[in-house]
Amino acid sequence: MPEITVTLVDHTNSPNLRPLIAHQLEDILSDLLFSDAEATVVNMRWMTASPVDGDQDLVLHFVNDIGSSYVAQKMPGPPIKPIDGGVTRPRPDKTGSEFYKFPVMNGVRTRLTATGYAKLAAHEAMHNVTRLGNAAMHPQGGIANSPPHLPVNPANRTSFQAGLSNIPSQLL
Ligand SMILES: [Zn+2]
Repeated sequence: MPEITVTLVDHTNSPNLRPLIAHQLEDILSDLLFSDAEATVVNMRWMTASPVDGDQDLVLHFVNDIGSSYVAQKMPGPPIKPIDGGVTRPRPDKTGSEFYKFPVMNGVRTRLTATGYAKLAAHEAMHNVTRLGNAAMHPQGGIANSPPHLPVNPANRTSFQAGLSNIPSQLL
């Protein structure tokens, strides 16, 4: 049956937000995994330090902002665009994903609702699992759109489920 274990790593010291984001993200990922044929399982946990290697499918880092990017620190590369609410950086050996507590929206450093953070996290999870870049994924719309929208749409489900059996190695 479709199943995914997601580890969220909190680099922002936001204990109050963690259960709220996890709840919303679990709903979105369950929708992405939904099939008429089988039950699906989403295992979700928060950690405040990186998990042990091999202990999870998907790792999403929650960091304050682009300036404190964990992905850029561990996997140096081109600058992250200031308007991005998160980033996923695929490399041959591993893929790193993060989303921001203080994304810049309309030029303003802002905070989101738990649903807003969950949408950013689910969008990066889509990039991570599907291995699709912006140009290939964003036109799907729904949670793949930039900025991401709910509800999840059938194209989102098809591409996410197709990648599920071949999730890349993760930046821990
Ligand atoms: Zn994107």
